[in-house]
Amino acid sequence: MTKSGTQRGSVEIEARHSLRATQAHQLCHNSSVSMTERLYYTDSYLHDFRARVTGFSQDRRTVYLDRTAFYPSSGGQPFDTGSIGGVAVLDVADEEERIAHRLAEPVAEGEVDCAIDWNRRFDHMQQHSGQHLLSAVFHEMFSLHTVSFHLGSETATIDLEGGAVEPRTVLAAEQRANEIVFENRPVTVHFEDAAAVQGLRKASERDGTLRIVAIDGLDRSACGGTHVRSTGEIGLILLRKLEKIRQSVRVEFVCGGRAAGRARADYEALTKVAQLFSSSLDDTPAMVAAQLETARAAERARRKLELDLAAYQGAELYRATEAGADGVRRLVQRVTRGSLEELRAVAQNFTAQPKAVFLATLTDPPSVLLAASADAGIDAGKLLKAALNEAGGRGGGNARIAQGSVPEAGVLERVLEKLG
Ligand SMILES: [Zn+2]
Repeated sequence: MTKSGTQRGSVEIEARHSLRATQAHQLCHNSSVSMTERLYYTDSYLHDFRARVTGFSQDRRTVYLDRTAFYPSSGGQPFDTGSIGGVAVLDVADEEERIAHRLAEPVAEGEVDCAIDWNRRFDHMQQHSGQHLLSAVFHEMFSLHTVSFHLGSETATIDLEGGAVEPRTVLAAEQRANEIVFENRPVTVHFEDAAAVQGLRKASERDGTLRIVAIDGLDRSACGGTHVRSTGEIGLILLRKLEKIRQSVRVEFVCGGRAAGRARADYEALTKVAQLFSSSLDDTPAMVAAQLETARAAERARRKLELDLAAYQGAELYRATEAGADGVRRLVQRVTRGSLEELRAVAQNFTAQPKAVFLATLTDPPSVLLAASADAGIDAGKLLKAALNEAGGRGGGNARIAQGSVPEAGVLERVLEKLG
């Protein structure tokens, strides 16, 4: 269910998360527990800050601060990285009242300078705000509701329920989402009482104060995540893969910097293909389809030639083989490597002539083939099965042609003797 070690968040998680914002706001002044003030709730652009260390784990590599701008993995959005007191932050976890920062090595007590990796954070903001926008568009245009969101290291996905998601649905949603990006609508965060809150895309089951993230004129969602301040900052939104997951449809998307990176990678991959076909990018699909058809036709022609050759070889071998005292032409072929399938076609053509028996062994993989014409007086299947049983091999066939394998090439001569 999870990818890239991050969690898939549900709307419920986001709602619960917003409740914690409320608790933090209400309790931070009168609680005896030193709660962490979540600076990212009110300012997602804050990336350098000072804080006081209020607690440690036993190994002193997990620290708690009186205030933090580090976002913990929550609601589908991964944690922030960066440094605390000059030490790298490896993980950030939400422990309800406090936020735990896992560090590469211990830091000293007291006041510390903290910095979050802004490139990573801003990327998360672009994807998460892009998700709200997309979810709202799917809801508004097609009554499809988002049941979960995952932000991976390269792409993000939402799971939609409430109906089919056709390629044209995706196209229309992508176009509408980008229009709203270009309109550069404000994205705001405010706190509202759950009892009085109205117009949420998905109703919250929580009470108390909710943290509401709103896209002007489009969406209001309870969410604890970090967001850009206007839709223009999300940048271009590209919808990519569609995947059916049980009763929902997973839509993969990339926003902003990721969209640019992805478009660049797509362009380079397509350019390589186009160069192979000496075509322009736009003509490449037709060129590839035409080449594939040519390759299929060549394969059909090759198979036909193979059969023609087998017929010719079978007839030639028959002519070159002298009949025994009983009038039957017996041919034994010892082949080192190859496939029984190739020998089969020759054998069938050999024994298509009167009074003919064709016997072949293959060293690698150790196997045997026996074919007989209808008037040769033997049952190839029965004969071969008996010989194989004795040699510890297995196989079979019908009266006219049979084949099988033996455990090792050393017993092939003994099998030949039995069949001869
Ligand atoms: Zn959210």
